[in-house]
Amino acid sequence: MAFITFLGTGGGRFATIYQARATGGIYLEDMKNLHIDPGPGALVRMRSVGIDPLATDAILVSHCHPDHYLDAEILIEAMTEGGTRKQGVLLGSLSVIEGNGDFGPAISKYHLSKPKTIKVMEAGAKFSLKPVEITATTSAHSDTSAVGFRLQTTGGMISYVADTQLTEQVIKAHKNARLLIASVTRPLGQRIPHHLSTEDAGYLVEKCRPELAVITHFGMRVIQENPETQAKWIEERSGIKTIAAADFMTLDLKKDTIAVGNRIKLKPEK
Ligand SMILES: [Zn+2]
Repeated sequence: MAFITFLGTGGGRFATIYQARATGGIYLEDMKNLHIDPGPGALVRMRSVGIDPLATDAILVSHCHPDHYLDAEILIEAMTEGGTRKQGVLLGSLSVIEGNGDFGPAISKYHLSKPKTIKVMEAGAKFSLKPVEITATTSAHSDTSAVGFRLQTTGGMISYVADTQLTEQVIKAHKNARLLIASVTRPLGQRIPHHLSTEDAGYLVEKCRPELAVITHFGMRVIQENPETQAKWIEERSGIKTIAAADFMTLDLKKDTIAVGNRIKLKPEK
């Protein structure tokens, strides 16, 4: 069954700079180990919960902003056993891998020479990492090549809405997932371009109707206004169970339920 650990729930410039929340990305274990959007401190947060970086099978980077890509190069070194074995998978937006206008590339030529497989993920692109089937989804972000991800796992469909403005195409791309994870950078009444606000997430969740919605990637304003308050508003609006992710929170996608836990309690730091 699929198991998720939030190695960070912060996002945006100032929450990241001050580490108001961790920014280590999302770690998915489903026979393979996938690390999604390893931002600053990903390695440190892995250390905190005893996840071995060398066990990484794939690194997925949605776009070329540092809160999403910063630890990707060192994780490539881990995934390839210090660069000594050509193994592992790197999936990233065009900006991350080749560069796109002012953005990127985020990964040096040296590091691009290390993984066994590298794929530029544009909306609709697919990659099979059995048993996980990955599809990139459309985004409308300041990095115009940004994508989200849909992951068909043994625990059902997980839809990850990375940084994006809300569009009808984005809603369509994330419908009918079991678990919807949305990056909410701004709280109620404080929408900015290119990102989801709480109101946007409420509309998205209402339309997509997952079994469970989780909000994460909180900007400083969301943290100040309380992520739980934002989640409650979304739940009341949509009628869909919605929770605010916490650093090191886990989700166990069991057959009948999605169990929420905390990895720090599972594996205390030694
Ligand atoms: Zn971004």
